[in-house]
Amino acid sequence: MNAASQKVALRARYVVPVAAPPLHNACVVMRGEQIEAVTATPPADAEIVDLGSVAILPGLVNAHVHLEFSALEERLGEAGMPLPAWIREVLTWRQRVANDPDGAVSTQDALARGLAEAVRHGTTALGEIATVNWRRNGEIGGTGPSRGPLDLPLDVTVFRELIAPTSEPLRIAECMLTAGPHLAEGEVSKTWSAGLSPHAPYSAHPQLCEAVVRLHARSPFPVAIHLAESREELEWLAHGTGPLADLFDELELPSPFAASRRPLEVIEQLGGLSNTLFVHGNYLAPDEMAALAERASTTAVVYCPRTHAYFGHEPYPLVEMLNAGVSVALGTDGRGSNPDLSLLAEMRHVARQHPEVPLARILELGTLAGARALGREAKAGSLTPGKVANLAMIALPEGATDDAYDMLLRADTEVVATLVRGRPVFATDETPLAAWAKSD
Ligand SMILES: [Zn+2]
Repeated sequence: MNAASQKVALRARYVVPVAAPPLHNACVVMRGEQIEAVTATPPADAEIVDLGSVAILPGLVNAHVHLEFSALEERLGEAGMPLPAWIREVLTWRQRVANDPDGAVSTQDALARGLAEAVRHGTTALGEIATVNWRRNGEIGGTGPSRGPLDLPLDVTVFRELIAPTSEPLRIAECMLTAGPHLAEGEVSKTWSAGLSPHAPYSAHPQLCEAVVRLHARSPFPVAIHLAESREELEWLAHGTGPLADLFDELELPSPFAASRRPLEVIEQLGGLSNTLFVHGNYLAPDEMAALAERASTTAVVYCPRTHAYFGHEPYPLVEMLNAGVSVALGTDGRGSNPDLSLLAEMRHVARQHPEVPLARILELGTLAGARALGREAKAGSLTPGKVANLAMIALPEGATDDAYDMLLRADTEVVATLVRGRPVFATDETPLAAWAKSD
């Protein structure tokens, strides 16, 4: 199974290509890193690996995560708490990590745990928001000790977080001094690619966003920004008042720049770039959805379903967005607000919360739409010949239904194996891929 030129046909009860209807008793044929065919009849020269009662899917795409929280056993704060109160919890937690002499090491451990957890859940591409410097070889840090490069078993787009709540030129210049080297490191890295994330409209001044737009004009990169996440954000943008204003006072930050603003302006400012992810979008207005729909080929809203539920937000306007033509992808967000990093669990949550959305569409949101959002659709997101063999294998339940989508999204079965570039990066002991995974 190790020769790169060897054809391997993975046979399963179902193959779910996403870009085409599910195939019963079919194979994904791989040669080296690539998918060569999706077929009911494997070629005669292929080695056949029979996986039994599983479905083979394209690797899941988690378009929004904060891996720094991955070592948390419990979410921060309490269910239903307002976002500004949760941000206070994050700031306190970060302060504790910063004061810990082993803080840098524990951050690296958290990232490593998060990456391992992601592949255990069938994820093969991540959109990570980073608050630490990533080097080209996957090494983390810049200030403290490091344990060497992270093992990056999957495709990671690292969005360096930028925070400058005011127009103070020095603060914006500082941010951009972080941004430039990050993009340069990502450019030459063989293991991850770089993007930038002005944090949110209340923490990234429009002039910081403008600096990002100018940098993008020189050489494009993906951008992610949290947007329309809470009612408090809308109040602060419109009037400069409310719990976010109180938080700024408490942090002794200069007076807010907000006045009569809306998420629409952020969409107009950043929505014309090559790839922009607007994260959450819990409270987008109809005209904002229309503006996103006009820019659907270069933008995506990233819905983080269980994080949305944790904060007890108003019902998510998923159907409205899809009907308006907005591109929607899915994310877990970090373990600071989510119980785990399972994108499969997010899709199942969406299936329960939005029964009017077809299951096939939900599966697309967690695969192909995510790949598009991260600019990876030419190589990932569907089981299409010529794409990279990034695969998730999910156990199927025995029971009355034989509908592949029902079995995947209305059950609680587990991911049994994950392949990245044709190699198993995770496999349970029960699958025939386990020995192969261990031999690497
Ligand atoms: Zn986030």
